[in-house]
Amino acid sequence: MPQLSPRVQALVQPHLRDLDVYDPNFTPTRINLSANENTYDVPPAARAAIDEALAATHTNRYPDPLSNELRDELAAWHGTDRAHVIVGNGGDELLYNFLLAFGGPGRTLAICPPTFSEYAFFASLTQTDVAEVWRDPETMLADDDALVDAAGKANLIILTSPNNPTGDLAPVALVRRLCEACPGLVMVDEAYGEFAAPGSSCESLLDAYDNLVVLHTLSKAFALAGARCGYVLAAPDVVEALAAVRQLYSVNVLTQAAALTAVRLRDEFAPTVATIVSERARVLAALRELARTRELTVWPSEGNFLLVRVPGASEVRRRLRDEFSILVRDFSYAPGLADCLRVTVGTPEENDAVLAALGELLPAAGPSDSLQALS
Ligand SMILES: *Cc1c(COP(=O)(O)O)cnc(C)c1O
Repeated sequence: MPQLSPRVQALVQPHLRDLDVYDPNFTPTRINLSANENTYDVPPAARAAIDEALAATHTNRYPDPLSNELRDELAAWHGTDRAHVIVGNGGDELLYNFLLAFGGPGRTLAICPPTFSEYAFFASLTQTDVAEVWRDPETMLADDDALVDAAGKANLIILTSPNNPTGDLAPVALVRRLCEACPGLVMVDEAYGEFAAPGSSCESLLDAYDNLVVLHTLSKAFALAGARCGYVLAAPDVVEALAAVRQLYSVNVLTQAAALTAVRLRDEFAPTVATIVSERARVLAALRELARTRELTVWPSEGNFLLVRVPGASEVRRRLRDEFSILVRDFSYAPGLADCLRVTVGTPEENDAVLAALGELLPAAGPSDSLQALS
């Protein structure tokens, strides 16, 4: 990763000297399954309603700082009231504000890697210490007792459910134990919650635990990654703290209008989410079938993506891009994810393309190998 120039390294705050210069490594491709977006886009009826709402929105006035109409709609959906909801410029802003408000020097955030890299990034920006409770390297599952132990010693803990990129859920019973053990706040990041089995959300614990914070986004199931809108459900005084540190106008008028319309029309999004969920099962089964003749590991997932381990993953990713114009995410460089690729579940056609390409690219193990060994 490129580094800051020596001149600027001397000028920035000391804890920022080793920051990487962000390089998204983006190449336009025919099929993009690299960022867990919803490749279906917004359904036509919802899109028409959003366009109408955007056309009626004036941009000469500042936005409502707290997006109160949107808060009310989100609250009604989740069976709560405005005081328990805060909206942000993507889930990322809310994660940053969470660390800004509740982390900082001398505080510790516990996380469960491999997981979403933004947690450690925002911790480093806010000089929050990080305690890592590693997943099992084979099953990718968390060590519940170690997590409860870490939660007891930490100021904050973030669990991701379903986890990005391993795909597993944080069981509600585990989150309950964490809420009881942690002297500070427990965040459950449910960015992919809409793709998970019903009943797996930790929202049901919000009434019982005022130290629980649940994060959501409209970037995934709602196909609004480009509009930048996320929200948090939490106790009113936690919401107040997140409101106090935020940039006043971070959620612009166009985003508020689009998000409000999308959330009102949330039922319109159910069919594509259901298709992605059934495609996920189909792709998982096809990859398991491929694993009978190829060296390949795939983990089950409750999100709109699958984690796959193949020999020479970086080269496989490069060839998928250059020979098939398919982009997937390479995690080979990340600790605990050697030779891992994350593949977003797309439309049936996109999924067929990636399955066919992997079938072509991965050398057949088994019979052909033994022939080679014989000759
Ligand atoms: C995508 C994602 C988010 C939020 O993304 P935004 O686009 O900023 O809303 C949060 N957590 C995880 C684990 C994600 O994958």
